[in-house]
Amino acid sequence: MAAFGTVFMPKMALATFENNQWSTSEIVDSDSIQLHPGAHVLHYSSTCFEGLKAFKHADGSVHIFRFDQNLNRFDQSSRLLSLPDIDQSQVSQMILDIVSQYSNDIPEPPGSMYIRPTHIGTEAAIGKAAAPSINSMLYVLISPVGDYFAGGAKPLRVLLDETGMRCAPHMGMIKSGGNYASALGPIIAAKNDVQADQILFCPNGDVQETGAANFLLIDGNEIITKALDSSFLHGVTRSSILTLAADLGMKVTETQLSVEELLQLAAKPGVEAALSGTAAVLTSVGTLIHNDKEHTVGSGEHGPITQKLRQALNDIQWGKAPDTHNWLTRVK
Ligand SMILES: *Cc1c(COP(=O)(O)O)cnc(C)c1O
Repeated sequence: MAAFGTVFMPKMALATFENNQWSTSEIVDSDSIQLHPGAHVLHYSSTCFEGLKAFKHADGSVHIFRFDQNLNRFDQSSRLLSLPDIDQSQVSQMILDIVSQYSNDIPEPPGSMYIRPTHIGTEAAIGKAAAPSINSMLYVLISPVGDYFAGGAKPLRVLLDETGMRCAPHMGMIKSGGNYASALGPIIAAKNDVQADQILFCPNGDVQETGAANFLLIDGNEIITKALDSSFLHGVTRSSILTLAADLGMKVTETQLSVEELLQLAAKPGVEAALSGTAAVLTSVGTLIHNDKEHTVGSGEHGPITQKLRQALNDIQWGKAPDTHNWLTRVK
């Protein structure tokens, strides 16, 4: 099967911001855009995106998961990057239009249609290192995706990094391209040096997140994760899992967690650790690597509570459990 995010529907929705206003959105070919080589985004990384999913239910209806949360975050990212303000109602309509157009191509669960709204600064101005782009382009790409766990994913090996950081702290809550580029060097080194799948960034010993996912620890009836602050990405999956954990009667603790506390907890039998994000939902972490030592998390295998929480989230997304929190937006 094709790698996640490499197959695209042939059309996408696109609008541009020029002369201080948004154009009417259009449906255009998704294999190319026209961009000046001096475009602001190519030089000064004025870019942000979102990732959300549409699901097909057994009755043929189509639903987008936590549409409003992702739109709000897209709006916030655009503002924090000094890109033109998005028009949320227009972007919402663009997403609905393109998803409806390809509703027949949405894979059945566990597959889905991954939706990637993208906003870039397009002004041709290479002298604007310290000034925003006055023009921009916003498009909505969609990509049918399969089961992230096809082929039986093994629990991840994760390197704890206390010296580096994923991105500049004031950029943490922005879903922006430069942040991923900034984390790439350390991640590649961790893959090569200790065969880690991911780095869990823990600046100054504070357990934060990985390159593109939030980190959750499960200790019996308690789920523990870093309290929100502006230094890291506020995942919609993180917040959904915490809500479902509370629904299941678990204690939800949002707090600072130190590397030392994490390693102590991870050594307890039955403890589970997981990464959360839209693409993979919840992925088990089996091993933490710290100062050349390997620490098995609990049994080192996929944890039963992680599986239960993932299933609870999938059941809502797939229409198999009541949508008690109104997380689904019906497209058709
Ligand atoms: C997208 C992302 C997440 C997960 O966010 P979701 O809304 O759950 O998909 C976590 N961390 C980073 C750095 C991300 O880019």
